[in-house]
Amino acid sequence: MAYEQERAVAIEAVALAAKLCEAVRRDMVPDAMEKSDKSPVTVADYGAQAVICRALAAAFPADPVVGEEDAADLRQPEMRDRLQQVTNFVKDVVPEAEPDAVAAWIDHGNGSVARRFWTLDPIDGTKGFLRGDQYAIALALIEDGDIKVGVLGCPALGFGDGEPGLLFAAVRGEGTTMQPLSGGAATTVHVVQPNDRDRLRFVESVEASHGDQAQQNAVAQAAGITAPSVRMDSQAKYGAVAAGEAALYLRLPSPKYPDYREKIWDHAAGAIVVEEAGGRVTDMTGKPLDFASAAKMMDNRGVVVSNGAIHDAVLSALQ
Ligand code: AMP
Ligand code: MG
Repeated sequence: MAYEQERAVAIEAVALAAKLCEAVRRDMVPDAMEKSDKSPVTVADYGAQAVICRALAAAFPADPVVGEEDAADLRQPEMRDRLQQVTNFVKDVVPEAEPDAVAAWIDHGNGSVARRFWTLDPIDGTKGFLRGDQYAIALALIEDGDIKVGVLGCPALGFGDGEPGLLFAAVRGEGTTMQPLSGGAATTVHVVQPNDRDRLRFVESVEASHGDQAQQNAVAQAAGITAPSVRMDSQAKYGAVAAGEAALYLRLPSPKYPDYREKIWDHAAGAIVVEEAGGRVTDMTGKPLDFASAAKMMDNRGVVVSNGAIHDAVLSALQ
């Protein structure tokens, strides 16, 4: 199997980070600090980035990590209590954690795009995390612009009467597996077949300002999906498509933020998880997402994720 060590290290790190995030949700009412771009960040975002970056630095010291967070705010003298709080949660999963080391692990995620690098969203869907809804821990390895490994931890996601807490893992050319975060066997997942009318649903963000819900609904209808959307935070939406629980995930540019550019860490892990389950991922014009250039995908607009079978119909509806 290719990328065996990368896959194993990533799965273990994401599972540990998921444990930390769930502990934060259980043990405190997570409150958000505001970053300079006004987006929320919590003790769990920092803790998860610390845990995952520590594992990557130990196993693959030469690989840069392009992570969403950095420790600049946490290093301010007036934030000592907050850094200690992060450290206490990290200690539960990495006993040797100390505040200075935790800040250094977080800043290991300040790397830049390179020939080979990892990209990390320690908590994707922080707003969902704060609301008690869906969120994801998303980690991917990119080489020569191509995603090679993706691991998506979804602590609040469950299907049917299954218990919540799922982890998806994909290696390029080798399929996608899904396993309970609580441990247990991994199974191979596949996208929904076009004749499975019941699961021909579409998913979109909870946050209306992260997309264009009017256009998303119109396009889904044009592609033959009649049921109303299932709204879900985070890359858990990619998990739903990969597992065949939905056929389509639409993320069209919000009319409120026409200049917004998607970030690589919001899509890399999810994209390979869906592609290796048999699905397709492009931007709204049909172009592949650009993971080779920078943290922001400057030349892509919107994101279309599907079971493959309906992809061309969706792109035509968008023209
Ligand atoms: P979701 O839970 O699918 O709504 O996605 C959460 C992600 O949306 C966050 O990680 C942000 O990086 C991203 N985001 C923030 N603002 C926007 C925007 N205007 N358009 C699209 N995505 C956004
Ligand atoms: Mg995110």
